[in-house]
Amino acid sequence: MINAVPHIAAMSPYALADLNPPEGQQLVSLSQNESFRPPSPFVAEAVSQAVSTGHLYPDPDWKILRERLSDVYNVSLDRVLCGNGSMELISALVQAFANEHNSVLAPAHAYPFFRSAAQLVRARYDTAPEVDQRVSVDNLIAAVQPDTRIVFVANPGNPTGTRLSRADLLRLRSELSGDILLVIDEAYGEFSDHLNERMFDVVDRGDTVVLRTFSKAYGLAGLRVGWGLFPPEIAADVRKALNPNNISVAGQAAAFAALNDQEYMRETCQITAQRRDWFSEWLRSLGLRVPTSFSNFALIQFASNKAAQEADRMLRSEGVFLRPQGGAGLDNCLRATIGSHEEMDLVVKLLEHWTTENAP
Ligand SMILES: *Cc1c(COP(=O)(O)O)cnc(C)c1O
Repeated sequence: MINAVPHIAAMSPYALADLNPPEGQQLVSLSQNESFRPPSPFVAEAVSQAVSTGHLYPDPDWKILRERLSDVYNVSLDRVLCGNGSMELISALVQAFANEHNSVLAPAHAYPFFRSAAQLVRARYDTAPEVDQRVSVDNLIAAVQPDTRIVFVANPGNPTGTRLSRADLLRLRSELSGDILLVIDEAYGEFSDHLNERMFDVVDRGDTVVLRTFSKAYGLAGLRVGWGLFPPEIAADVRKALNPNNISVAGQAAAFAALNDQEYMRETCQITAQRRDWFSEWLRSLGLRVPTSFSNFALIQFASNKAAQEADRMLRSEGVFLRPQGGAGLDNCLRATIGSHEEMDLVVKLLEHWTTENAP
């Protein structure tokens, strides 16, 4: 018998979505916050051209991609690091700045991968209560311990979809001591960029990182490209924990092409937001609670854990897979990614029928 090291042996595997519909049913997957539509047509063209250089290793410095990011987001080129999805950057940050002698802090209903990343390095994982499924700056500050090294906040949050204002985040940063790294994960940032509350400038302080990804608004989840803005000293250490050839030739070409079609990305965000708001309103009219979302999904809160489970079972029996949220401490909630109009219409109809026969 060959045993894994104890902390890995004790970990549960990362809970990915269950995507096995009942026999004969077509799968409607609204469980992974993927875009409702394929990427810009420029992406397919760029990827098919990139294949001809597939015998060569990719650019380990992501130079062309970083230059484009710097232009489009008006950020300094030398502060950008790119990852095999932003998950790789989260994992590398935790490897570089936390270990078994300290701790990582996040809001109670945070993205579960923050916890997994902490477990991988044997750091303690602390959480701060949220208020009405919104991150509480006061509770986060109160939960800081002498050994807290990293605070993660996804903004907008996943699975809540709610967001903190720039003023709230600035207050959090100013109340955390300068030896605590604040990581603001803006995986859904493009869905709220119209609010003009970008956080990139805060990175200049030297103690804050802002992460973004191509997986959501740009629709490249399957090509695995994330990026972030890092203070130079932090970047130097995070880089040591990244795979040196982390993003494939196809991934880099895809992200570059997606950046070149801002109009398409913005249209994706607009259509998604409009559909999300319509969907959320409908569910509220059925007596379900749906917090205002700033992302490409909506969190649906049921009256009890049992009601959420029953609704989930009913939807699955029809082939419709939302994401149960026990992993984020919200057993009474299901998260619905905003899919096509027809898919959202189907969810509304099924829940409408279900709520007439069950307590919501
Ligand atoms: C989807 C998501 C990510 C992961 O994105 P990848 O770039 O696909 O690795 C990171 N953080 C949050 C909050 C997410 O929802």
